[in-house]
Amino acid sequence: MSEGRRTNKPPMSEEERQKRIERIKRERRRQRRKKAMMMRAAVLGVLVLILVGAIVLVSFQVKRSKAKKAEEQARQEQLIQEEEAKNQARKDAVAQADTMALGYDYDGAIELLKSLENYDQDADIIAQIANYEAAKSTLVAVNMDEVTHVFYHSLVVDPAKGFAGEDSTSAGFKQWMTTVDEFNKITQAMYDNGYVLVDLHDLANETTGEDGAVHFTTNQIMLPEGKKPFVLSLDDLSYYHSYDGRGIASKIVLDENGKPTCEYIQDDGTTVTGAYDCVPLLDQFLEEHPDGAYHGARGTIALTGYNGILGYRTDIAYKTRENLTEDQQLWLDAHPDFDWDAECAEAKKVAEAIIADGWKFASHTWGHMHIGDASLENIKADNEKWQSYVAPLVGGTDTIIFAHGQDLADWHDYAADNEKFAYLKEQGFNYFCNVDSSQYFLQIRDNYVRQGRRNLDGYRLWNDVHGEKNRTSDLFDASQILDPSRTDMPSL
Ligand SMILES: [Zn+2]
Repeated sequence: MSEGRRTNKPPMSEEERQKRIERIKRERRRQRRKKAMMMRAAVLGVLVLILVGAIVLVSFQVKRSKAKKAEEQARQEQLIQEEEAKNQARKDAVAQADTMALGYDYDGAIELLKSLENYDQDADIIAQIANYEAAKSTLVAVNMDEVTHVFYHSLVVDPAKGFAGEDSTSAGFKQWMTTVDEFNKITQAMYDNGYVLVDLHDLANETTGEDGAVHFTTNQIMLPEGKKPFVLSLDDLSYYHSYDGRGIASKIVLDENGKPTCEYIQDDGTTVTGAYDCVPLLDQFLEEHPDGAYHGARGTIALTGYNGILGYRTDIAYKTRENLTEDQQLWLDAHPDFDWDAECAEAKKVAEAIIADGWKFASHTWGHMHIGDASLENIKADNEKWQSYVAPLVGGTDTIIFAHGQDLADWHDYAADNEKFAYLKEQGFNYFCNVDSSQYFLQIRDNYVRQGRRNLDGYRLWNDVHGEKNRTSDLFDASQILDPSRTDMPSL
């Protein structure tokens, strides 16, 4: 059969031909549709690709512009912060200039204002400079021969303890010490009476010659009419062991702002801190009354060394434990963890804070020696100890305030052949102070400055109220000052 089909293929009918043509046509249409669909899919794909690309690009751009915006914002914020810091610094400088001007340092205040950026385009600053110039022109020259010098020891916080007993120790406290109340009343009264604290070094101008020798001439202090300068010193700010239990502060420490304050041991043995002695009390008063001090002056603190300084047991004997006195041995026994190096570091830190407030340090001799009676050899040995164990803690000094009210010579000028004077000069001392209780004693010579001092202590106050002669009436009314807890003034 298959043979027959192959050989006898019947001719295609018209109908069949038509069907075949139709089939071919359909096939072609299907092919075209498929092609078209493929084309559309391809176009769609490209479009999707373009869209995705565009989205990616846009989102990238958005991200970039966001980052740029944040960057710009941070830059703006930094600029604002810088501007604010600048404004604050300017405000601080203006406030500082004001404090300087209150302390009669108009030149310093003007110089500070002129150091500010574009000060000459700031109407407020120009006006303030004019105010300072005007105030400066009203100052008058004070009589430099009439500058008094007063001094205190550590203050008695609790008179019931300080003045307890009938022995010579008690008599000493009654005579040499001033109470906190007396000190505060004197400070207020002297301020009210026009007294302005000046630094001992404000009395003279110092120049150094080519050979290194220093020369002094009288400085001219300028103050408002009616104001009177005075110098202040504090003796024996060491909180000796002998003060223990006497109602006096135990040491100077730093408060939370790094400012000097006192540690005080209460009856129950607990420790409190606060203004229990001259340094923080006067600092507080002068912060509230900046016109009470000339150019921010403070007092001069005269230190011995044998029990350390400022309440810190810094003398070498506490380290070597050689030649200890009984009270030193007792103290070391009570403090088995004592670390001499740490003690010295702490004392130095406290001394630096005291200096930062404007105070100066002086030698009071290491051993509280009778400098007039002592031999030159003993003075040398004593000074070497002071220079070794006190000077490094307080940054050295050019001032010596003699103990026991003694001096190197009588009131005449120090003579060139005075061996003690020559030795102390060679050791760098140029300022010398004694106790003469006279109103004014000031020698400003080419090679030294010397001033006499007045004790504002129990002895003086008691005698000004109960004695025949009143020696402090130029400063205050002693009857308003004397502590009512004082009932007698035994002699030593
Ligand atoms: Zn003394």
